[in-house]
Amino acid sequence: MTANDVFPIEGGCTCRAVRYRMMTKPLFVHCCHCRWCQRETGASFALNAMIEADRVILQKGEPEIVDTPSNSGKGQKIARCPSCRIALWSNYGGAGDAVRFVRVGTLDEPDRLPPDIHIFTSSRQPWIVLPPDTPAVAEYYRSADYWPKESLDRRARLPSAR
Ligand SMILES: [Zn+2]
Ligand SMILES: [Zn+2]
Repeated sequence: MTANDVFPIEGGCTCRAVRYRMMTKPLFVHCCHCRWCQRETGASFALNAMIEADRVILQKGEPEIVDTPSNSGKGQKIARCPSCRIALWSNYGGAGDAVRFVRVGTLDEPDRLPPDIHIFTSSRQPWIVLPPDTPAVAEYYRSADYWPKESLDRRARLPSAR
């Protein structure tokens, strides 16, 4: 077992009013290069760890949920600190409330969760050099093609799974 297998790990907002604990490793980590994520982060991509909502335990504070448009058109609910407004995670229309997309940069040790896949690379900023050993797709992908079996099994157990 390496350090990267040790959970829970902790995270929170900048003012420390909201603190949370991620109880297990996530299902999958997206590095999304779509223009929407670029605008939301004010940078070049978003790094989101997808995990079952009940595996993210609040330790302090209560995020405020902000309805925000999304690339899919189905919208997303962004959980933000009510005081410093940092975004901690999103729930997307497609995946429902059962899966949170935790913003990896809000973890105390964000280095622990590198991307499992780069998505929407067709709109990546041209100076970004993608690592050769991580899967990358021009737009989106089928989870069955890339997720480890353990994650697919976990997702199948979700109440919203079809
Ligand atoms: Zn805060
Ligand atoms: Zn995106």
